[in-house]
Amino acid sequence: MSGSPKLVPTKYDALVVLIVLALAVALGARYWFAPAREAAEIIVSIGGVEAERLTFDDSEYDYTNNGYTVHVTVRAGSVRVDHADCPTQDCVRTGAISRPGQSIVCLPARIILTIEGAAAPDYDAIAG
Ligand SMILES: [Zn+2]
Repeated sequence: MSGSPKLVPTKYDALVVLIVLALAVALGARYWFAPAREAAEIIVSIGGVEAERLTFDDSEYDYTNNGYTVHVTVRAGSVRVDHADCPTQDCVRTGAISRPGQSIVCLPARIILTIEGAAAPDYDAIAG
């Protein structure tokens, strides 16, 4: 058996690792900081069932369930619970959300607002 080659990292290996890391960070950052696109929707779930889908235009909605009313304000690109008569107020304290995957939960009212949108850029839509 001949001696195995030395597996010592070289400067070039380090460079490749850095490039890969930089690309990963750049891609991740682009997704993370991407504003809510117009195609995104707000899914309103009441009592565990999808009740309504809202688009991001300036509107206000009241949802009542389980004895509590949640007042939802939608603005361009963001949605928040302005006020609610639930005892915990977690939904109000969540503040405005704007990115796909984020949600506002009101446990007492069993109301969940979730922003749904494509997780990746819509290249298909452009090509089609
Ligand atoms: Zn609440």
